[in-house]
Amino acid sequence: MALEFACQRVGVTDCKHSATADTKEELLAKVAEHARTVHGVELNETLIDYALTTVEET
Ligand SMILES: [Zn+2]
Repeated sequence: MALEFACQRVGVTDCKHSATADTKEELLAKVAEHARTVHGVELNETLIDYALTTVEET
């Protein structure tokens, strides 16, 4: 079982990126890195909370 985050689920419809990881911490690290390098967005607590509500277990 893994956790999966996809940009499209948070409304970034033009980004096909998704990230998977075994733990929430690992996933958030990947999502934060992607958000910063690709979208120029620095994740804050609000964004992290929102992102976590869209994470799916696969
Ligand atoms: Zn993205």
